[in-house]
Amino acid sequence: VVIVVGETARGDRWQINGYGRPTSPSLAAGGFVSFPEAYSESNTTHKSVPMLLSHLTADTFGDSIYSVKSIVTAFREAGFRTAFFSNQRYNRSFIDRFAFEADTTLFIKEQPGASGESLDMELLPLLKEELARGAGRQLIVLHAYGSHFSYNDRYPEDFARFVPYEYTDASLAAKDRLDNAYDNTILYTAAMLDSVASCLRSSGAEAAMVYASDHGEDIFDDDRHLFLHASPVPSRWQIDVPMIVWISDPMAARHPGYFDAACANRPMPVSTSRSVYHTALQLAGIGSPLFDPKLSVVSGEYKKPARRYLDDHNCAVDLDAILAR
Ligand SMILES: [Zn+2]
Repeated sequence: VVIVVGETARGDRWQINGYGRPTSPSLAAGGFVSFPEAYSESNTTHKSVPMLLSHLTADTFGDSIYSVKSIVTAFREAGFRTAFFSNQRYNRSFIDRFAFEADTTLFIKEQPGASGESLDMELLPLLKEELARGAGRQLIVLHAYGSHFSYNDRYPEDFARFVPYEYTDASLAAKDRLDNAYDNTILYTAAMLDSVASCLRSSGAEAAMVYASDHGEDIFDDDRHLFLHASPVPSRWQIDVPMIVWISDPMAARHPGYFDAACANRPMPVSTSRSVYHTALQLAGIGSPLFDPKLSVVSGEYKKPARRYLDDHNCAVDLDAILAR
């Protein structure tokens, strides 16, 4: 099982979710199921990623984040070899703690001599190397830098499909250029997800990938002229995130119910903060007292989640009440 944790990607900017631009053509082929109604229970990296990678939600984060172990430990205890590869810097908090639960942990940008400008596709050789261990049961977490500002630093020139993308300042006047640059980052992230699936496909393994971004982004979308994310009160664009599941043919053949359930659950709302953990456990066939099939998007028992949000004081609030402000 590979979990790809995205960064600042907005669900509504993905072609696979109905966006009018070809930002994810590589995901049109079989095996990918996207959940266009997905949302995050936090608009900040340092809270959202720990919820993606643990059973904690907005309702339990404040009480338990200091003591909880992550999904990495759940897989280790079930006999999986685990690896965590990051294209982000150390955050010196919960994300690092979870990352170092793994058998192998590597932060590209923290390596001696690293330029600090590595692109997400540089995680692929690490994935291939880890798969080549032939360890049998494996969990590999990839933490991408995705669409974090400044957008043009996140993709190589050959992904500059939407033009013009050059901006000199982040202002309302530059919105069209910022949108183009942002869409280029989605195009690159979609290609990376396709590359991850290709690696798993060529391994011939019973394999699956779960991708979700930590939060979305404001790009001067309405008359409030908001930009970036992590504001005290989130906009709907800050919590609108992509969630995509890919299942290999060998896994689909052995567990046909996973793909069918994912397709059936596709129109449902999904809280990524709640569902990534349970979906990954089910795909790996790991039993746990914490496992809840009602939160796994590959389960026929999946149910619409509580719409909750983790506020600045680590308290859970009603998501729709805070969005309405
Ligand atoms: Zn983030």
